[in-house]
Amino acid sequence: MKRQISIENTDIYYDLILKNKKNISIKINSNGHLIIYAPIGISLAYIEKLLIRKKKWIIKNLNIVNNNPYNLKNSIIFLGNKYDIKLEITQKESICLDSEFIYIKSKSIDYKYIQNLLGSWYKEQAEKILFDRVNILSNYCRLYPSNIIIKDQKTRWGSCSSKKEIRLNWRLILMPNSIIDYIIIHELCHLKIMNHSSDFWELVKIYVPNYREYKKWLNENGSLIMSVK
Ligand SMILES: [Zn+2]
Repeated sequence: MKRQISIENTDIYYDLILKNKKNISIKINSNGHLIIYAPIGISLAYIEKLLIRKKKWIIKNLNIVNNNPYNLKNSIIFLGNKYDIKLEITQKESICLDSEFIYIKSKSIDYKYIQNLLGSWYKEQAEKILFDRVNILSNYCRLYPSNIIIKDQKTRWGSCSSKKEIRLNWRLILMPNSIIDYIIIHELCHLKIMNHSSDFWELVKIYVPNYREYKKWLNENGSLIMSVK
């Protein structure tokens, strides 16, 4: 059931889901909805007290989710550009882009469903675009991996194994081209130098003279992009 509480002059809406369980858990889902799971029979006064006690955490995390430009709302981000969503409910599903809009044809209007549809599309694009970029940059740097794997990595953008395999996070596809290229070149340079020594950074600098700028961009935007499902 939908409920509302006022915390520090902000109206906060939450879903209360009563379950046959012992403890209470508070969650914020990727749509920015606050959900409380609680045992059947619990008093509303108890829940409200708990919400007030946890207000700092709740307000902070609601803000993070709701202000994350990388989360699906009315627009999406692809290769660093913003596209407004034009949604159509159809039998045959497809996703395509022009310079301004992303046209999503979906069988269902359900948010989660569309999010999944978009997730599969992102991964397909990642396979195509990242493979191409690695090939081009490999030739440019004359550093050749044995294999390229696009992965759903939760904590890293890319990695390079001792078998000279390069793995890249599909979420790179949300970033501007210049950042994608930096990450790929970073991993290609690991084919030659496995650590992050000054020699390594000197090598990166040959191909990406302003790599520090891109590292800074990743520090500022990385966690928002990493949270995209
Ligand atoms: Zn590295």
